[in-house]
Amino acid sequence: MLVRVALPVPLYRVFDYRLAPGQVAVVGARVRVPFGRRALVGVVVALPEPGAAYAAREDLRVVSDVLDAVPLLSAALLRLLQWTADYYHYPFGEVIATALPGLLRGGAPALFPPVVFFQLTAAGLGADLAALRRAPRQQAVLQVLQQVPGGLAADDARLLALGNWRGAMQGLVQRGWVVRERRERTQDTSATRQDASATSATLPVLNADQAQAVATVQGQAGHRVYVLEGVTGSGKTEVYLSLMAATLAQERQCLVLVPEIALTPQLLARFRARLPVAMTVLHSGLSEKVRLQGWLAARSGQARVIIGTRSAVFVPWAQPGLIVVDEEHDASLKQHEGLRYHARDLAVLRGYREDVPVVLGSATPSLESLANVAKGAYQCVRLPRRAGGARLPSVRVVDMRRQWHDEGLSVSVLDAISAHLEAGGQVLLFLNRRGFAPALVCEGCGWSAQCPQCDAHLTWHQRAGLLCCHHCGTRSAPVRVCPGCQGRLRPRGEGTQRIEAALARHFPDAPLVRIDRDSTQGREAFEQVFAAIHAQQYRILIGTQMLAKGHDFPGVSLAVILGVDQGLFSTDFRAQERLAQVITQVAGRAGRAERPGEVLIQTFHPEHPFLRTLLQSGYAVVSQDLLEQRRLAGLPPFAAFALIRAEARDSALGEQFLAAVRAYLLPDAQGVAVLGPVPAPMQRRAGWFRAHLLLHAPSRSVLQRLLRARVCEFDALPLARQVRWSVDIDPVDMG
Ligand code: ADP
Ligand code: ZN
Ligand code: ZN
Repeated sequence: MLVRVALPVPLYRVFDYRLAPGQVAVVGARVRVPFGRRALVGVVVALPEPGAAYAAREDLRVVSDVLDAVPLLSAALLRLLQWTADYYHYPFGEVIATALPGLLRGGAPALFPPVVFFQLTAAGLGADLAALRRAPRQQAVLQVLQQVPGGLAADDARLLALGNWRGAMQGLVQRGWVVRERRERTQDTSATRQDASATSATLPVLNADQAQAVATVQGQAGHRVYVLEGVTGSGKTEVYLSLMAATLAQERQCLVLVPEIALTPQLLARFRARLPVAMTVLHSGLSEKVRLQGWLAARSGQARVIIGTRSAVFVPWAQPGLIVVDEEHDASLKQHEGLRYHARDLAVLRGYREDVPVVLGSATPSLESLANVAKGAYQCVRLPRRAGGARLPSVRVVDMRRQWHDEGLSVSVLDAISAHLEAGGQVLLFLNRRGFAPALVCEGCGWSAQCPQCDAHLTWHQRAGLLCCHHCGTRSAPVRVCPGCQGRLRPRGEGTQRIEAALARHFPDAPLVRIDRDSTQGREAFEQVFAAIHAQQYRILIGTQMLAKGHDFPGVSLAVILGVDQGLFSTDFRAQERLAQVITQVAGRAGRAERPGEVLIQTFHPEHPFLRTLLQSGYAVVSQDLLEQRRLAGLPPFAAFALIRAEARDSALGEQFLAAVRAYLLPDAQGVAVLGPVPAPMQRRAGWFRAHLLLHAPSRSVLQRLLRARVCEFDALPLARQVRWSVDIDPVDMG
């Protein structure tokens, strides 16, 4: 018996092994095999016939262990992973490894980790709570247990909420009212079950647009892709909830992909409160044990709703029902290293393969999705109005050329802030640049502090007293004077810290909070800060895109958007799309409840046609303009790109390797423009010299025809071993 195994090694091939007598393996099961001098865990992807070609293969090594008696990965999931490997030109075994929880990758059994359970005995069930008057802790524990006939796991939230419950539980065990036992965990206990009757009373009645959206999706069976384009606050989440409830009622599961879990506690809380089913949440901050648990609960069907960040697109499920991609335009759905996949694109493919509807939701859909709508491939469903009667904010441009400004804040903005503060509103300022100033510059000669490792300025972090590189993480103590002319050094440009300091000076009585990666880390820190914002403990909020994503700030009546000019003139062809999205998203944070909102955009280029169109006509119109520009310029989504990157310690090697790649591809590159090699926009980063080769094809299929069976040969090209190279299909970040 032979098995063909995909192994987590950077090689574009699979490996055959022999089964020992008595061993049995099925496709989709893990095996442990010898590989060189190591032992690796891989997944059986085929059972080749031991025909004539193998008769002579005495060299085949023998499988050490078969780890799964039943397939860990279904045939359908293996096909999805194979397709992913082919499309992104990444080794199949490494794609599989990316999709598996770490413990399974390491060979741990595919079982729920056992947990301690507490369950009432018959005596405990009938026990009178009043009898425990003297032992209030035991009384509290008994009360919780009497509500859960199935028993409680030791890490159940309801027990943890009691604080120090263990001693009291021991007391109940001694009374013979509770038994303690180890059980295989049969469900993800992070999943909470709600009492359906308790929540149904609070359901909002869908408005006409929402009802129409739900009816459109439900009116068609099987796979289709819907773009749910709803202005911020239009009630997209209610549409998801309604579709999910219907899916759950058909005994099917729902998979919801979100950009960043830490930024979406409100969304999670709403799902938990409204869907009376077991739910599992998968993201990068989980312990390996919890991740395994969630993965298994999804696979077994115990978790009815699976919510996760991009890698959840690979999670197995037992009863496919519905895939939702929230904020589908968000760049974090694309992985920027290793297997550079786009979770939205894979979600669409997965929905097609598994014949389930896919809903792509956003207030600002990506141009890719809008192009698919225009082609008729996806169906657009619109929510053009805010739900619950809230009005969209009025948006104005503040012309920086004509007025005095202090530390990057214009008089108009400062006046508006004080007016809104006086009226009792909260104020939000958005600037997508952390630190105090993006450069420290000599007044005398223009010298500026550079990162020794990167072609980049160091950012001045005044609070920490450090110069930091935002590209490689280098930190250094500040230089006091210019090393060339001994001149004075001045911070140039603004980051969030500088705005924070200026606001603190102008509005000393208004408590303010800064939210960026320097100030707020981890999910708990987020939740605390957001709770404090909701409780109106802060009047001024200043932050980076962390503030712009998905959050409702009902008290915010003024949103100020700073630093847009960079996006207006960037050479990145996606810069204006991103700017339109971020402006629209930030503007949507203002005035979400009954409070009418105001939005100010500070710029030195108020007459820029892009800004004018965006402000006069909104995202729907500006995105169509941008699409037309892309079509005329032959840029994605009207063309397909692949970016081949190479980096080396030596400045010339990357380009030399890419020249070899170019020479290798050119003879067969009919219809594909091979551009470069050129130095990357930031040529040196973290001490590596970086070069790019861009492939520009009229369609994805033409591009794939060129790359198929060729990327796997790159390693045989000259210099391949001296550079780090990668292939990025449909690149989002061109840097
Ligand atoms: P989105 O996800 O599009 O930003 P939400 O679903 O968060 O919008 O809804 C915005 C606000 O409007 C929420 O406070 C929500 O409770 C409320 N809302 C949504 N749909 C309705 C409705 N049909 N009736 C009343 N309020 C609604
Ligand atoms: Zn100088
Ligand atoms: Zn650096």
